[in-house]
Amino acid sequence: MSTVIHNAFDAERLERTGIPVELSKRSADVSHNSQLGTATASNTMNQKHTVIIGGGFAGLAAAKRLANQASVRVTLIDRRNHHLFQPLLYQVAMAGLSPAEIAAPIRSILSGARNLNVICSEVKSLDADRGLVVTEDKKLSYDYLLMACGAKHGYFGNEHWEPFAPGLKTIEQATEIRRRVLDSFEIAEATDDPDERKKHLTFVIVGGGPTGVELAGAIGEMSRFTLAKDFRNIDPSAARVILVEAEPRILGMFDESLATKAMRFLEQLGVQIWTSSRVKNIDADGVELADEKIRAGTVLWAAGVKASSLGKRCGFECDRAGRVVVQNDLSVPTHPNVFVAGDQCAFIDPKTGKQLPGQAPVAAQQGRFVADTILNDVAQASRSEFIYVDKGQMATIGRSRAIAEVGKFRFAGFFAWLVWLVVHIFFLTGFRNRFFVVLSWVWSFFTFRRGARLIVSKNWRFYGTPEEKQVDPGQSS
Ligand SMILES: Cc1cc2nc3c(=O)[nH]c(=O)nc-3n(C[C@H](O)[C@H](O)[C@H](O)COP(=O)(O)OP(=O)(O)OC[C@H]3O[C@@H](n4cnc5c(N)ncnc54)[C@H](O)[C@@H]3O)c2cc1C
Repeated sequence: MSTVIHNAFDAERLERTGIPVELSKRSADVSHNSQLGTATASNTMNQKHTVIIGGGFAGLAAAKRLANQASVRVTLIDRRNHHLFQPLLYQVAMAGLSPAEIAAPIRSILSGARNLNVICSEVKSLDADRGLVVTEDKKLSYDYLLMACGAKHGYFGNEHWEPFAPGLKTIEQATEIRRRVLDSFEIAEATDDPDERKKHLTFVIVGGGPTGVELAGAIGEMSRFTLAKDFRNIDPSAARVILVEAEPRILGMFDESLATKAMRFLEQLGVQIWTSSRVKNIDADGVELADEKIRAGTVLWAAGVKASSLGKRCGFECDRAGRVVVQNDLSVPTHPNVFVAGDQCAFIDPKTGKQLPGQAPVAAQQGRFVADTILNDVAQASRSEFIYVDKGQMATIGRSRAIAEVGKFRFAGFFAWLVWLVVHIFFLTGFRNRFFVVLSWVWSFFTFRRGARLIVSKNWRFYGTPEEKQVDPGQSS
C-alpha cells in the first residue's frame, strides 16, 4: 500500500498515531460519510465489518493495520478507554512513573482511522455461529472477529490469596501496590513495636519471572537509596526484600548465565532470592512456605498467568491456561472468520515446538498478521501461516542494569539497560509519553528520586458511613 502524506495535518497525525492515510477515492468517500454519520449503503455493504475485542498490543496493532483500508469497516471494543503499556507498569507500582505516562486513550491513538469506531464497553459473550458479539448494552454482527482480550495473573486455584498479594496487570493494581509499599514504610516508622516494625519492613515477591525480578529490584533500590534519608525512626535500608520462586532458578526463560548475573545484581540491591520454595498459603500475616513462615507487611504476586475467560465461555477449545487453541493462521478451528491473538491465544511455534510466550511483540505481530489475513480474505487471496520473528527478550534490575538476550547475543549490566531503555521508549505509545518518561528517568537516574511517591487512598467520599468516610472530616466542613 502506498502511503501519501497529503498535508501538514496528515503528517502530524501519522506521527501521533502511526496510522497511514490511504487516499484512495473510496476511503475518502467512506471517511466523509462516516464523519457525517451517514454511511451510505454502497460503502458499508461492500465493506466487511471486523470487530476487534481488546485494545491491547494485539488489538491495537490489528486496528492500525486495518485503518483507512477501503475494504473493511472496523469496530474496536475495549472495557477500558486506554491502551496500557504493561511492560512499564512496575514503574508505576514502584513510584517511578505516573499512570498517564504509560497509558493513552484508545480513541485518540486511532483518531486518524476514518473507517474505525471505538466502543468503550465490556464484551460479555459471543455467538460465533450467528456472528454476534454481545456487549454490556449492544449486539453487533460481524464478518470477521479478532479476540485479543489478553490475560490476567492466576493464583493456581488460590484466588482467595488476592487481597493479601495483589498482582500487577492494571493501573488500579499498580497504584494499590504503590500504596501498600509506601504505606509499609510509614507504618514501620510510626510503630514502637519491634516485631510489627520488622514485619512492615519485610517485602515478599512471589514469582521469579521478569515482573517479579523488576519489582524486587525496584523495592531493593528504593529502600537502599531513594528512601534512605527520609525517615527518622527506621532505617529503610534495613528492609528485607525476599523473592520467592518455586523452581530451582529464577528467570527460567533466559539463558542460565544471564539469570545468574541477574541474581548477582539483585543481591547487590539487598534482595534475598529463595528458589525451590513453593508457597503454601498467604494471609494478612505473610507467606507460608513448606518449612517456614515469613511475616511480611507487603506480599506481591508475580507468578502464574490465566487467559481471559471469554474464549472458554464461548465454547472454544482452550489449553490449561485458558488460551484459545488456534490453527496456523490464528483462526479458531470451528470458525475460520474468528481469530485469536496475543496472550489469549495458544499457538505452538513450529520452529521450537513450544508455546509462544505472553509478550508484547508476539501480540503485536499476531495482531498485524490477522489484519493482513482479513484484507487478503476480502481480496480473495489465499491465507498464509503465522510465523513469529523473535527479536529477543529483556528484563531490568534496579535503576541502571538489565539482562538482554537477542539471538545468540547476551548482554548484562549497564549496556543491556541502555538497550532496554531505547526499546521501551521506542515502543511506548505517544510522543508525549516518550518525552516525559525520558525526562523522569534522566532525573531519577541522577538523583535516585522517584517522582510519583504519593500514597493515595482508595476512598474519596467526604460523607458516608464511618467505614466509608476516610477523608479528614475537618476538610469536609
Ligand atoms: C507487569 C507486566 C510486565 C510485562 N513486561 C513485559 C515486557 O517487558 N516485555 C514484553 O514483551 N511483554 C511484557 N509483558 C507482557 C505483555 O504486556 C503482554 O504480552 C501483552 O500486553 C499482551 O497483549 P494483548 O493484546 O494480548 O493483551 P493486553 O495488552 O492485556 O490487552 C487486552 C485488552 O483487552 C481488553 N479486554 C479484556 N477483556 C475484555 C472484554 N471482555 N471486553 C472488552 N475488552 C476487554 C483489556 O481491557 C485490554 O485493553 C508484561 C506484562 C505485565 C502484566
